[in-house]
Amino acid sequence: MVSSTMEQYLLEPDSVFQWIWATQVPSNIKAFVWRAMLGRLQTRDNLLRRQILRDVDDAKCAFCRLEVETCSHLLFTCSESMAIWYECFAWLGVSIAQVADPRIHLLQFPVIGISKSQKLAETAIWMATVWSIWCVRNRVIFSGGGAR
Ligand SMILES: [Zn+2]
Repeated sequence: MVSSTMEQYLLEPDSVFQWIWATQVPSNIKAFVWRAMLGRLQTRDNLLRRQILRDVDDAKCAFCRLEVETCSHLLFTCSESMAIWYECFAWLGVSIAQVADPRIHLLQFPVIGISKSQKLAETAIWMATVWSIWCVRNRVIFSGGGAR
C-alpha cells in the first residue's frame, strides 16, 4: 500500500525539497540533505568515479569496510547505519521498511505524523540522523575514530 505522502512524491517529485527547506534545521544540514538527495555527496564512490580515489579498496565504507561507500549504503543500508535507524524507529515507536533511496526514506519517515508541525518535527529528526551519520563517518575517516 502506498501512503498518501508517497503518492504525493510520486506525483510531485520536488515536494521532498519543499519539506527539506520548510524544516527548521541549520542551513548547512539542509544543504547536506539536498546534496544527498541529488547524489552529490563526497562519498567514496563519487570520489572513485572522479578518480580522486584510484583503488576500489579505498572506496570501501568507513563503517563496515565491506562494500563501496555510496550515499545509500552509508546513510541507510550499512549495518552500522541501520542499527541507528532501528534505534530511532524504536524511540519513535514505529516500524518502517528500510529503503536505500534517500527521498523515499525521508518521505516514508514522517508518515507517522498527523499535523504539519509533527511532520516537520519528524523531518528534522530524520535530517539530524543522516547528518549525524555523516559526521561520524567523517570522524572515522579523518580522525581515525571508531564508529561507536
Ligand atoms: Zn558499510
